[in-house]
Amino acid sequence: MRLYEYEGKAIFNKCGIAIPRGVLVRTGSEAQRAAIEIDKEVVIKSQILAGGRGKAGGIKTAETPEDAEKITQEMLGMELEGYKVNSLLVEEKLDIAGEMYMGITVDDENGAPIAMISAEGGVEIEEVAKRNPGGIASHRISPLYGMRSYEAINLIRQIGLTGETLLSASRILTRLYHVFAAYDARIVEINPLVTTSTGAMIAADARCEIDDNSLFRHPEWQDLRIQHIDNPWEREGVKAGVNYVDLDGDIALMANSAGVAMSLLDIIKDEGGHPACFLDTGGALSKERMKNGIALLLRKAKSDPHVKVILVYTSLVFSLPDTVAGGIIEAIREVPADIPIMLISAGEEERRKQVQELLKDSGVKICPSVEKGVREAIRIARQESRNGYIC
Ligand code: GDP
Ligand code: MN
Repeated sequence: MRLYEYEGKAIFNKCGIAIPRGVLVRTGSEAQRAAIEIDKEVVIKSQILAGGRGKAGGIKTAETPEDAEKITQEMLGMELEGYKVNSLLVEEKLDIAGEMYMGITVDDENGAPIAMISAEGGVEIEEVAKRNPGGIASHRISPLYGMRSYEAINLIRQIGLTGETLLSASRILTRLYHVFAAYDARIVEINPLVTTSTGAMIAADARCEIDDNSLFRHPEWQDLRIQHIDNPWEREGVKAGVNYVDLDGDIALMANSAGVAMSLLDIIKDEGGHPACFLDTGGALSKERMKNGIALLLRKAKSDPHVKVILVYTSLVFSLPDTVAGGIIEAIREVPADIPIMLISAGEEERRKQVQELLKDSGVKICPSVEKGVREAIRIARQESRNGYIC
């Protein structure tokens, strides 16, 4: 889960890494008030879950509170790197004397955290790595001992810092490792770490990514997680308790196992079709989850005219016929939509017959095999009309 810059900075602040004075705003007048409070030139930074905002026009400066208001109004609602700008950070403009890069990530190959620093700050580290690999110094951190201060000092020394700056930067690096470990991050990055004209070191940007596998240890993030999902359908998926990935095709796909769902994606693609999404309900279905999954696809189909057909695969080995059929029927009742639903079910003949019987008045088409189901779904999707399908 990637955090917004303002959330990352709040963590930095709590852990002793200096950040600029700033206020999160959602309206022009809030920005004006923030600029009055800060009482000097401000930087206005769009809060999106992507980097490269500087280049993309997502960061502007304002000399007066009136300018701050105007710029904020212009930037709100803007589409940036595929994200909509809903909030902005208004911060004191730093008087930059130098910028460096400092980051810690997981080195999967070595199974350990790795700290990376560069004197070339403000530039994407991937670019520095390509253009000037010698410009990055790195150090593997022992997950057992953590980042010890002498290790931080030795690393920072490699990019030529000395004296007080060397000590300040090393202190920030050990604190950054503390953030990395305490918050179960996969990435923590300060780019740029600014040295001001008075010699202070301040984190001008913050990128933090929390390892999703650790979310159970951070109940405070559980609720926030949904807000960090940008795609509204994927957000619905989390609420419905299913794994949902939004795609841009016309066949809405659901299966009760991720492996089957992925295989179906491949088969649809191989046959020349275009999946509209990937939805995995997970095995051992409950009627509730079955209903939630189908209802989500029905809502998606209603709002997205590209979606022409819903294709569902369920295994009747672990799920009972009335769970599968009952869930579908409840979903259709809850979200009536004019879209064909096709069901491929695998398992004992007897259970398949029961499903067919339970669904006989529902309008759901039962497919005799995966191959036929996929081909028929593609045929329907290619048609202009949603009517006249056979299976
Ligand atoms: P990113 O482009 O999404 O990584 O956003 P950053 O927060 O890193 O900002 C991009 C660039 O804007 C930085 O590298 C700085 O050069 C500049 N910038 C950001 N904040 C300030 C500031 O307070 N003062 C000045 N002078 N420049 C800033
Ligand atoms: Mn940055």
